[in-house]
Amino acid sequence: MEEKKFIQKQLIKNMIYTFAVFTMLVLVFDLLIYKRAEQLLYKEIDTELQNLAELNSMSNKIILLNPRIMYIIRDSEGNIINKETIGTIYEDYVGDIYFDITKLNTIYSLKVNSEYNYRCITVPALTISNQLCYVQLLANVDGENESLESLKSRLFSMSSIIIITSIVASYILSKKTLKPIIIAWERQTEFVQNAAHELRTPLTIIQAKQQLLLKEPESKIIDKSEDISLTINETRRLTKLVKELMVLAMADSNQLDIKKENKNIDELIKDVVIPYVEYAKMQNKELKIELNCNKDINIDVNKITQLLVILLDNAIKYTKEGEKIEVKTHCKDGKCTIEVLDTGIGINDEQKKHIFERFYRAEKARTRETGGTGLGLAIAQTIVKAHGGTIKVYNNEPKGTKFIVKI
Ligand code: ADP
Repeated sequence: MEEKKFIQKQLIKNMIYTFAVFTMLVLVFDLLIYKRAEQLLYKEIDTELQNLAELNSMSNKIILLNPRIMYIIRDSEGNIINKETIGTIYEDYVGDIYFDITKLNTIYSLKVNSEYNYRCITVPALTISNQLCYVQLLANVDGENESLESLKSRLFSMSSIIIITSIVASYILSKKTLKPIIIAWERQTEFVQNAAHELRTPLTIIQAKQQLLLKEPESKIIDKSEDISLTINETRRLTKLVKELMVLAMADSNQLDIKKENKNIDELIKDVVIPYVEYAKMQNKELKIELNCNKDINIDVNKITQLLVILLDNAIKYTKEGEKIEVKTHCKDGKCTIEVLDTGIGINDEQKKHIFERFYRAEKARTRETGGTGLGLAIAQTIVKAHGGTIKVYNNEPKGTKFIVKI
C-alpha cells in the first residue's frame, strides 16, 4: 500500500516536472516567434525612420520621402510649432502624442489615444531662424500591429492546444519512465518474499524435528536417525540457499568478484565432469564427454566450474535411470560453445520462458524433493553474463533438454 502511494506520488511529481518543461518550452518558443515577427514587421519602417532621422538631424529643412511618415516640430520646451502642417485628421489627438526630450535618436513604439500605434524617433533640428528645435517623426503601424495581434491570438490558441495535449503526454511519459522502476520494485519485493519463504520452510522443518527430539530425551540416536538426517539435509539446503542468495545479491550490486585467467576450456570441463561420470553411473545413467575446443580462453575458473556444476546437477536431476547426458564443446569464430544435453523430462515452451528467473521451478513439489531451490539457472545466467556470453535452452532431440552456453 505504502509503495503504491509512493509510486503514485512519484508519478504526479514526474508529470508536473514534464508538464512544466513542456509549457516553458512552448512559451519560450512563442516569445521567440513573436519577437522575430515584430522585428521583421517593423524592420522596413524602422529603417526608413532611421534614414529620415539622419537626413533631418540638425537641419533647418524638413525632408520627408515617405507619405506614411508624419512629422511634428517642437520647440525646446516640447510645444508643437507646426500644428497647421499636421493635417486635420491628426488634429484631435496630436496633443496627446508623447514627447520625451531625453529620448533622442532612438526608435520606440507609442500608443496614441489608446488606439493608434506609432513607431517614433525624435532628432534635434533647427528652425528657419536657426533656433534649436526637435523633429518628431512618426509612422503609423496599425496594420503591422493588427498582424501581430492576429499572430498573438493564433500562437495563443495553438499553444493552448499543445499545453493541453502536453498534460496527457506528461502522464504517458512519466508512466513510461516509471515502468522499469515499478517492475524492478515488484521483482525486488517478489524476490524478498520468495527468499523469506524458501528460508522459512527448512527452518520450520528443523525446528519441528528438534522439538520432537526434545520431547523424547530418552530415545536413542539410532531410533531418531531419520529425523536427524532430515534436519541435516534441511541445514544443507539452507546453507546452499544462503550461498546462492549471496551470489545473486553480489551480482545485483555489481560486486560479483570475477577473476579471469587464461585456461584451457576442455581441460577445465574434463576436471569438472569426470567425477560426475561415476556419480551418473551409480544412478544407472550414462554421462558422455565430447570435447573439441582445445583452446585457452579468458574465464573465471571458479565461476565457470559453478556454471558447469549447475547444468550437470540439473541434467542428472531431471533424467531417469537408463537415460543419457552429454557434455560437448566446440569453437567457432573465436567463441567457445559448451553444450549440456540430456534425454530427461525436458522443459516445455512455456516453462522455457521462465527457467532463468529467480526461484522459478517447473514443478515445485518435485524439484523440492530433488533439493532444487530454483536459483541455479538464475546464477548460471549471471555467470555467463559476467563473461559477456549467452546461455540458451532448447529441446534435445528426440527428447530432453539442451543448454547451449557461448563464451
Ligand atoms: P533448481 O534448483 O530447482 O533445479 P534451476 O534454476 O537450476 O533450479 O532450474 C529451474 C527449473 O528449470 C527447475 O526447477 C526445473 O524445473 C527446470 N530445469 C532445469 N534444468 C533442467 C533439465 N536439464 N531438464 C528439465 N528441467 C530442467
